[in-house]
Amino acid sequence: MASSSLANILDGSKTLAYCRNMKSWSSNSVSHSYSKYSNETLIMFDSKFQKMNAIGRDNKRIQIYVCGITPYDSAHLGHAFTYLTFDLVIRALNFIGRQTNYVQNITDIDDPLFERARQSGAKWQTIVESQLDIYRSDMLALNILPPNHFVGVMENMELIISRIGETISKDLSYQIGTEWYFKTDPRKLSKLVDSIPKNELLLLAKERGCDTDRQGKVNALDPIIWKASKDDEPNWKEDFGTGRPGWHIQCISLANKYAELPLDIQGGGKDLIFPHHSMSEEQNSALGFGELALNFCHVGMVSYQGSKMSKSKGNLVFVHQLIEEGISPMVIRLALMQHHWRSDWEYERELIDDSKEFYSEMSKKFRGKFISQNDQDKIIQFVLNDLDVPKVLNFLKEVKPLSESENNVSIDLLLEALLGLKLEEVA
Ligand SMILES: [Zn+2]
Repeated sequence: MASSSLANILDGSKTLAYCRNMKSWSSNSVSHSYSKYSNETLIMFDSKFQKMNAIGRDNKRIQIYVCGITPYDSAHLGHAFTYLTFDLVIRALNFIGRQTNYVQNITDIDDPLFERARQSGAKWQTIVESQLDIYRSDMLALNILPPNHFVGVMENMELIISRIGETISKDLSYQIGTEWYFKTDPRKLSKLVDSIPKNELLLLAKERGCDTDRQGKVNALDPIIWKASKDDEPNWKEDFGTGRPGWHIQCISLANKYAELPLDIQGGGKDLIFPHHSMSEEQNSALGFGELALNFCHVGMVSYQGSKMSKSKGNLVFVHQLIEEGISPMVIRLALMQHHWRSDWEYERELIDDSKEFYSEMSKKFRGKFISQNDQDKIIQFVLNDLDVPKVLNFLKEVKPLSESENNVSIDLLLEALLGLKLEEVA
């Protein structure tokens, strides 16, 4: 197989600049573990088997892979809600003394990104870099812990292409023209799709980028794994054709490289259940990498003005816009945390106003204060039971602050370590 060359698309200096920007973000957030809770377990809902599961096996480092953004319209409230959820997962696990390996990818090779570049006249690399800057600065402002591995497709292209080559050599894919499709078995679809009515699968796949009516496909749901590039898109010249990789194979290649499989959590928004996660699962298993994940955690969708916040509908509210309006990032964080991670919810401006008031009350009530051990235990139990943060916030409204530290717990420290919430002084 011919080796891939980035020189097809970028000159040396630009390649360096691109790779250098794939850094994560820094964090000065407090993270604590308390030996008192070391026998506790985090329970979360698994959307594959539709039941509660304990996260983590034995005392192994917990492996978490969360599908990241396609960097062209970054960090609207829907994105923030998803990455906040996994931040809370990491905080809860660290709190009970569990080590984590958290991988988050960036889909920097994807159709919508190239379409955006075409529409705006900007280079796709420039869009990626500027959007990643916004994303990192929003994550930092919201006090979201950085992943251990923040990885892009571009710097892992050789690996991804070799996986595509494997699907061809193992007869797991077939060719139409210059493109390749992964062979799915419609009788053996992932249990993840059990939650979706069968007659909706085709429509849903189409809506989410699968070319279901392409002539020559064996099964309409077969996902593309090697796509012909348009003239203004990056391409790699390989023995099996010139093109670029499809989405699902990107994620499983990265998950296998940066995490230990099976993952303890494969995470993302609910809209990734199908086809992305079910197809990723199928490809991972067909390639001989076994089970992709023991738990699938899918975060609820945020809607605005009556429909799901999405780039195509244009009904987006961005974190950076709210911050520019002068809203404290901690108020935005609190606003998001008022919703259970699995709930779908509708954003309304009143949420920000209410959260501002709630934050101010909490800051006045709790800054520099303590709570009883018993109250702390209750808070931990709410979090460990399917990450019920809204229940914690309601409980805090009733909790009595204490001035004495003896045998009591600093509430500032607890709220920051467990909920990532810094209580700043409010005028
Ligand atoms: Zn993914």
